Amino acid sequence: MALPYATDALEPVISRETIGFHHGKHLAAYVNNLNALLPGSLFEEATLEDIVCKASGGILNNAGQILNHELYFGQFCAPKADNAPTGKLADAIARDFGSFEAFKEAFTKSGATLFGSGWVWLSADKDGKLVISQETNAANPVQKGLKPLLTFDVWEHAYYLDYQNRRPDHLAALWQIVDWSVIDKRYK
Ligand code: MN
Repeated sequence: MALPYATDALEPVISRETIGFHHGKHLAAYVNNLNALLPGSLFEEATLEDIVCKASGGILNNAGQILNHELYFGQFCAPKADNAPTGKLADAIARDFGSFEAFKEAFTKSGATLFGSGWVWLSADKDGKLVISQETNAANPVQKGLKPLLTFDVWEHAYYLDYQNRRPDHLAALWQIVDWSVIDKRYK
């Protein structure tokens, strides 16, 4: 996938250098790996969602990372002060977490306490109820029948150049660059 913004658009929250490695090297490697594994497999014509629900081994891991990174890189915009959801999604967050502030605190804590590499997710169940989950390695909530809406990548490659070991500081800063119009479209 092409980035929907310039490589320096998310600064200072995520540097151009981090985007360069994360999108240009890490994601590119997952794409190259999957393209090498798919020919002759059962999944040559499958969607990424189908693959992550049905495959195993290297095909599952690389397809999972591609799906996760497409959702991740597709959800950001230049930093905004007082960045917050609006409309139906804002109402659902208030209904299911008490308030936007309480949601952000729970989501950030979930990312900070995930042991090892993985992803923290906001998803919707089939009734539209919102849930936060920790997924390890390349897992995605579609594997549990959930609709993924928002994700923070907590693999060290996502933040180490800019924040070193300070994962909680990185997660707290990401709230400035979430493009809530994208998350709202995913929820509808
Ligand atoms: Mn990543």
